[in-house]
Amino acid sequence: MTNSRWYDYSKYFSDDFLIAGFTNINFPFNPPQDRIEFARLLGLNSQNIVKLKQVHSAEIAYTRQPGQIENVDGVITNNTDLILSIQVADCIPIYIIDNRNKIFGLIHAGWRGISKGIIEQSVLKLAEMNSNMAAIKILLGPAIRQCCFEVGPEVSKLFDSKFQNDGKGDRSYLDLQGIIINEYVRNGILAEKISDIEICTHCSDDYYSFRRNGKRAGRMIAMMGYKSPAKI
Ligand SMILES: [Zn+2]
Repeated sequence: MTNSRWYDYSKYFSDDFLIAGFTNINFPFNPPQDRIEFARLLGLNSQNIVKLKQVHSAEIAYTRQPGQIENVDGVITNNTDLILSIQVADCIPIYIIDNRNKIFGLIHAGWRGISKGIIEQSVLKLAEMNSNMAAIKILLGPAIRQCCFEVGPEVSKLFDSKFQNDGKGDRSYLDLQGIIINEYVRNGILAEKISDIEICTHCSDDYYSFRRNGKRAGRMIAMMGYKSPAKI
């Protein structure tokens, strides 16, 4: 078991002012205090948090103001005062940043959202904001991986067979990370700028896992924002 309560992923983005974090099973706070406490731990402004009412959709919001956004599974902004947050437990937290244009976003991607096109939607939103595709960096955080993600034919039929290994009977092991990376590269993001943390939440005791812990599983928080000097 890890001794830490959260992980600092800022190094993946090589921007002195951008902070990206992810909580783990030792993080001791519950909603609604959890995001405020996490922002404080990261040295970010806890007054400016954006959170989502996530529904496994392909909808992504563009926002310029703090607060809750209903019925979306991703958020993108170019307001460096904002602190973005999402929650996950097995679904994939995707951190996105174009640090040339100070555009950043967080996406909650599970098989439902991916099959509905949330990855393509995120690229469209970035393009609408005149993001420079060659400048975009992406990080896939801890999530369930192909080793543990066995699905039935009703799910596997939604995805290309090249991202699947045979499971029991008609079941398959699905590689959602592979599907996401392939989709981003197909849409013009540079493969060398996509990082995958390669940690399986179902294999590791350091994280909550919906598949392992069931409906009462806790959630991890992914958070990203700029330290105040970026405002100058
Ligand atoms: Zn696993």
